[in-house]
Amino acid sequence: MNQQIVSNSIQEITHYNRVLEGNRRYVAKKLASDDNYFKNLSKGQSPKYLLIGCSDSRAPPNELTETDPGEIFIHRNIANLMIPTDLNSNCVIQYAVEHLNIHSIIVMGHTCCGGIKAAMTQQSVGGLLDLWLNQIKIVYEKHQDLIESLESEDDKVNCLSSLNVRAQVMNIWKNPIIQKSWQKGNPIMVHGWLFRVETGYIEELLIDSQTPEEMSKVFALKFKLDSERILSKKASRQSSPQNSTRKRFQLMQKKITQNLKKLKENGGRLEQDIELQLLGELIQNSQQS
Ligand SMILES: [Zn+2]
Repeated sequence: MNQQIVSNSIQEITHYNRVLEGNRRYVAKKLASDDNYFKNLSKGQSPKYLLIGCSDSRAPPNELTETDPGEIFIHRNIANLMIPTDLNSNCVIQYAVEHLNIHSIIVMGHTCCGGIKAAMTQQSVGGLLDLWLNQIKIVYEKHQDLIESLESEDDKVNCLSSLNVRAQVMNIWKNPIIQKSWQKGNPIMVHGWLFRVETGYIEELLIDSQTPEEMSKVFALKFKLDSERILSKKASRQSSPQNSTRKRFQLMQKKITQNLKKLKENGGRLEQDIELQLLGELIQNSQQS
């Protein structure tokens, strides 16, 4: 084996071991200040925030905000996208809103984002990646004049990062899970952040819509909430044709029982008119059901 490859492999294994050793130090540090830290953590989570961030290794949400494990529910993907048909991020949103009862969602983009840079070029980065980045290209195309009017390449990239965060916030407002939550009286707030890798600071971005009511009515959905659904189910049950068929069937069963009782009393002989009536009702019932 080439000497260089051997040397590189040793370096990589050493680095990998250092990452694991870091975990041992982390545990020791936490236990030094609280013996029950991990026991308490294992009891459950009740985060108040869902953060959708970029997978970029330079943008770790907990470290940047000095928050502890358990405080932020986190979903990360390339360029912090909230694509309406993406099963993964939609499941995260649904779980966070309907089960964890979070009160805020934060979309956090960052400066010098590789995903944003790639979306601004015409160079293919691979089938699935091109497809994913297409969502950013849509934002780029919409604001191309503004972005291209900026002088430096960094400013162009960071401007698109900010616009991309705003676009993802709008996608969250349009999301049915969020709209339903608002209509049920649980107003989830949505914020847009830009993390500046070069300074470490997070900037809060001004977002066009502060509530789902402010977005275009084209995307507004009306939900039949549980209480309304129960009422309408009750009303439809009372007037449904199935209901009247069921009632007729119950009545018929009652008559049959009564007549069988009479039959017993008459020594096994049914009166002819009762027999005919029963037969007619049975035919009528089979036609209706
Ligand atoms: Zn990124």
